[in-house]
Amino acid sequence: MMNINTDFIFNLLGLSAFIAAFSLGFVLMLKMEEIKRLKLVLDKLKKSFDELDDQAKLIVKTDLELNKTQEELDKKISGLYTLQRLSRAISTTLDENQLFERIEESLIIELGFEKALAFSFEKTENGALGLVTKMQAGYSAEEVEKARTSLEKEDILSAILKKNAPFSSLTAASGKLKHAMETIKSACLLNSFISSPVSSKDGPYGLIIMGNESALSVLTEGDEEIVSILATQLGQSIENAKLFEQTFRSHQELERRVTERTKELTAALEEIKQTSKRKSEFVSAVSHELRTPLTSIKGYASILATGKLGEIPPAVKERIEKIHLHSNELTNLINNMLDISRIESGRVEMKLLPQSLTEITAKIVDLLTPQMKEKQIQCTTRLPKVLKTALIDTTQIERVFINLISNAIKYSPEGAKITVSAEETADNFIRVDVADTGYGIPQADLGKIFQEFYRVDTAITKGIKGTGLGLSLVKYIIEAHKGTIWVNSKENSGSTFSFTLPIAA
Ligand code: ADP
Repeated sequence: MMNINTDFIFNLLGLSAFIAAFSLGFVLMLKMEEIKRLKLVLDKLKKSFDELDDQAKLIVKTDLELNKTQEELDKKISGLYTLQRLSRAISTTLDENQLFERIEESLIIELGFEKALAFSFEKTENGALGLVTKMQAGYSAEEVEKARTSLEKEDILSAILKKNAPFSSLTAASGKLKHAMETIKSACLLNSFISSPVSSKDGPYGLIIMGNESALSVLTEGDEEIVSILATQLGQSIENAKLFEQTFRSHQELERRVTERTKELTAALEEIKQTSKRKSEFVSAVSHELRTPLTSIKGYASILATGKLGEIPPAVKERIEKIHLHSNELTNLINNMLDISRIESGRVEMKLLPQSLTEITAKIVDLLTPQMKEKQIQCTTRLPKVLKTALIDTTQIERVFINLISNAIKYSPEGAKITVSAEETADNFIRVDVADTGYGIPQADLGKIFQEFYRVDTAITKGIKGTGLGLSLVKYIIEAHKGTIWVNSKENSGSTFSFTLPIAA
């Protein structure tokens, strides 16, 4: 009984051991599987972690770059603001020197530069190209002079002129330009610099150099842009200043010439006045001298014509009458000449009084009616029923009417018509028109008929007697009344002489 139990127990133990071993193996297998899965997850995690690390590095790098760009952008914006202020300062002056004075040192520093220099190109006495200092910031006077003389070398200036574009210590250069760059650095005591040519419409004007002495201040492409913009603005302002200078100069020259001409004209006018005065005095003296013997001639001719000194044969009588007639014409001429010279020289005082032009018209038309009748000329007057009085010297204005109506009769064929009309004008004048349907005046003569001694020379008017003084006298009289006189005429269609006289207040 005991043996059965032992076997059973052994068998049971063996089974249990088997089950246990099997279970352990199974569990082990499961664990192995789990480990494998976990390893896979771990690999994945590691990969993700590596990726994340890469991304983090990238983010840090991008952030750094962004910060740098932001910094540059901030610098650029503040530079542009300063540049805007600088541009405004230089564009509001039209004086070339003042323009450079406005580039203040504080603005240069705000733009991010320690030092600045500006030179203009100028031909020296021996014909070579030289430099004139226009502006400096951050230098002593000696340093500026040293920089100027060092740069004033032919090879350096020719390299700068040839480049004719901004260049800086950032630009890759070789040959002459590299030498120019090195010279700028050492001559202008700069570790880094930006230089730009300044040009106007007339060509290269000069150059500006801006830079830093300290090796720590780094220049960027943005700085290059700012200097280039400043140089362009300077060029434009210089051009404006030059244009203004030119306009100002030509204005001054014009003013000088006008003053000169005015002086010349005043002198010429004074001379004309003197000559005219002398002419008037001469005419007046001669007329006086002529009048006395003429009066005697007329007197003797009249006595002879009466026959009191003896019987006169008809042929002689006819000649004596001619002497009388011509003496009368000569007296008229002399009187006209005397009157013109008197009015011209202001020796005739106009006795201005309010007077009715209606009355004067009627009186003169009446006076000249016999002459009109002789040529069957019809005269019509067209005057308003109520016409204001004019401020005139009656005797003188009567002469105007006599002259104009006589001319209308003289220069019209038989059966012609004359119309005298008058009206008040808006500017307080009375306008009088003396119109005829006579021979008219050729266009070419219209501007000359008021000149002294001018007579129209046509086939018809040739035979009509006259002195050419009547209209001159009329013009002088009207102008002495502050009026005007003019004529409208067409050959063979008649003429209208118009004049104005002031209305009496
Ligand atoms: P004149 O003594 O010759 O008449 P005026 O000075 O009175 O001198 O006139 C100058 C010229 O103007 C005259 O010679 C004449 O040719 C021209 N003239 C003047 N009035 C008239 C008119 N009503 N019609 C045509 N011609 C005229």
